[in-house]
Amino acid sequence: MTRAVLSIGSNMGDRLELLRGVVTGLGTRVRAVSPVYTTAPWGGVEQEDFLNAVLVAEDPGYRCRDWLRHGQRLETAAGRERAVRWGARTLDVDIVSCAEPDAGGFRALHSTDPELTLPHPQAHNRAFVLIPWLDVEPDATLAVEGTERSARELLMELDPAERAGVRRTELALLPAAGTVR
Ligand code: AMP
Repeated sequence: MTRAVLSIGSNMGDRLELLRGVVTGLGTRVRAVSPVYTTAPWGGVEQEDFLNAVLVAEDPGYRCRDWLRHGQRLETAAGRERAVRWGARTLDVDIVSCAEPDAGGFRALHSTDPELTLPHPQAHNRAFVLIPWLDVEPDATLAVEGTERSARELLMELDPAERAGVRRTELALLPAAGTVR
């Protein structure tokens, strides 16, 4: 049994549909879905803005590595190509954090394996991860250099321009409650 926090992003093609495909692909594992944010890309390559969101998902049979594999399958299905570093991508799925049940709650797992580093080594620097994560888990914490930190505090330590670059949209990954598709 594990619970994962996933950061998903797209800046190529039908970005909203690509993000919705992750929610569909994870199916009944999904426990929480953040609003959709738009974020200017960084790295100096000319490209469209990203749409970003955060999902929380659980699976009784998954180990942390299974979330990585599942995310990679969804990236492949979205036709992701890695032609340019920092360049446009149809879909990016990152494992921000992965936790196991522990004494009535969850305990985040730590790993330095380059194939699956946990928590994600850049999560604390990225407003487009922290902002949507706090929408769905207002008390989220994240280990930074071995110390468990409040995600809210980490966000406040970022450059204000970085925070301001992440803007909430009216787009939703799930239909509004009570609507029928
Ligand atoms: P990227 O191109 O930025 O999506 O990086 C993908 C690579 O990072 C893959 O080879 C993964 O095995 C590796 N990786 C290491 N830790 C993580 C993580 N927490 N989430 C997603 N990918 C990871």
